[in-house]
This record gives sequence, C-alpha cells and structure tokens, in this order.
Amino acid sequence: MRFTQPKLPYTPDALAPVISQETIDYHYGKHEAAYIAKLNELIEGTPYAEMPLEEIIRLSEGALFNNASQAWNHIFYFFQFSPAGRREPEGELRKKIDEVFGSFDELKGKVREAGASLFGSGWVWLSTDEEGKLFLTQGANADNPLRHGLKPILTVDVWEHAYYLDYQNRRPAYIDAVWDIMDWEIIESRYAE
Ligand code: MN
Repeated sequence: MRFTQPKLPYTPDALAPVISQETIDYHYGKHEAAYIAKLNELIEGTPYAEMPLEEIIRLSEGALFNNASQAWNHIFYFFQFSPAGRREPEGELRKKIDEVFGSFDELKGKVREAGASLFGSGWVWLSTDEEGKLFLTQGANADNPLRHGLKPILTVDVWEHAYYLDYQNRRPAYIDAVWDIMDWEIIESRYAE
C-alpha cells in the first residue's frame, strides 16, 4: 500500500451536530477510504507509484486523477476541523480576508453562494498564490486548485455524501454550519506555509 488513510485527529462523534458520527462513518470511513484504495490500485506498477500525491494530481487524467485528487481533497477537508479550535481568522490572514472580501462575514456569504450555485458535485476552495493573494473558487467533481497553480488553504466538500444524512437537500445550511468546526489556527498555518 503506497498511500495510507491518515487517522482523524478527533473522535468520530467530535464534530456533531455539525457533522454527525454517521456522516463521518460513511464519508471518512467509506468514501475517503475507497478513493485511497482505488488510487493505490491504479498506480501499482506504473511510474505514478513513485510520485508524491500532489505530483500525481498535477499530471494524471481520468480515473487516476479523480481518485488521487479525491484522496487529497478529503484528507485536506477532514484535517481542517477540530471540536475546540479558534473559530475566527486572526493576524495577516484576517487582514487579507477583510481586504479581499470586505469582512469575515462576507467571506462566509461568498462561500455559501459559491457552494449553493455549484451544479452537481464539487468543492468550494479558498486558496492563495505565491504573493499571498486570496482566491475563492468552485471546482466540479474532483477538481483541485493545485491543477490551476494555486495553493488551497480551506475547502468545503459540497458533494451530497458530505451533508445528505444530516441536512438532506439543505446544502446552504450545511455550508453555514461548517464554520462552527473550522479551526483557523490550522487554516492560518496553511496560509503561512
Ligand atoms: Mn466527499
């Protein structure tokens, strides 16, 4: 096994009620696990078997890209949450958010809008470039900003499997709720990297 699924840094019930244990059991336990298993299967015996995951995402197409990117996206998604982190950005990143979006509340509104208007499955991303500029983008299916020269720092999974057990068709309600589990110390350290 080339890539292994990292253990969550919290218990499966720790994000409830924003994300229930049942959703974690399926989303992390089944969906993420399946993307990583499929990725390992697809790279076996190919030149991709020696590459870092980011490199596979940049270079591959089709099923390999989909599974590599979904593996990365889900690990990135689950590791930005914590049951007791800081819920607001501070410092340099806060300054940038205020500059680009007007305020933290306006950023939340834009994330809701981007997620609600994304047709079908995909992701909403907050990313940065080499100069520290911020970009809010939508990505369909397995898309990842790494494909577009950006470095992601925050994401919201808006595939139905991410919210349907807890919110049914209310995607905007799920998007609004994730701010209650988002750990800004983690987002800021990604931004500063
Ligand atoms: Mn997902």
